[in-house]
Amino acid sequence: MKYGVIGINGRMGQEIYELFKEKGHQLVFSYDKDGEYKEDKPEVLIDFSLPEVLETTLEYAREMQVPTIFGTTGYSDQQLAKIEDLSKQIPVVQAYNFSIGIQMLLKTTEFLKDNLPEDWDIEISETHHRFKKDRPSGTAITIADVFDREIHTTSKRLGNVAGDHSIEFGSLGEVLSVNHRALSRRTFAEGVLKSAKFIIQQKTGLYSFQDILFQE
Ligand code: NAD
Repeated sequence: MKYGVIGINGRMGQEIYELFKEKGHQLVFSYDKDGEYKEDKPEVLIDFSLPEVLETTLEYAREMQVPTIFGTTGYSDQQLAKIEDLSKQIPVVQAYNFSIGIQMLLKTTEFLKDNLPEDWDIEISETHHRFKKDRPSGTAITIADVFDREIHTTSKRLGNVAGDHSIEFGSLGEVLSVNHRALSRRTFAEGVLKSAKFIIQQKTGLYSFQDILFQE
């Protein structure tokens, strides 16, 4: 597969580059603060950068007409609407978390939301490395979106933590918690590779990582 990465010099950009190289895929396009590299037209475009890069990525995606994966977090509702708009022209994946474990945590959360008594308290917490720019994390927002009401989130920025999330449910008699820990960024890169293989087969449409994971 010929692929392109926007944000190639970043932590995720490099993790994706290493994994894709190991699996025999070819980087033919990249973009970062130091400029553009273009060897060929990619079959898929992958953005792990910052929300402020979105307009550039949208331009590249429209110009090249290639399936695009958005892994960046911290987008505004308006920016998410632009990504949805793009998906009417080309196939798009947008997900705030590309790990299998978090998708299972989301499914578990949906089950608990439907089955626990309504008067239980709910709290989300997340911890990430000190360099993370957005707060709360995109994943915490995705977990909170399962509910029809606002859920309080606590965010910690600590050392080099790749990503911890937990959701706790409490009644007067008990506390139930569901936790997830990403042990490295490779797990996200693996989810991106799975998504890339899927999205290059599609015509148009907007997909989440959950759609891709549970499609088989
Ligand atoms: P990072 O800071 O290491 O990398 C971001 C890259 O984007 C850098 O190389 C930077 O130079 C580049 N960049 C920033 N502004 C730019 C600009 N104006 N023009 C060109 N390039 C620019 O960050 P990271 O840890 O790699 O994370 C990147 C994004 O991915 C963040 O939003 C993060 O929250 C998100 N993320 C998502 C997942 C997921 O599963 N969806 C997992 C991990 C991280």
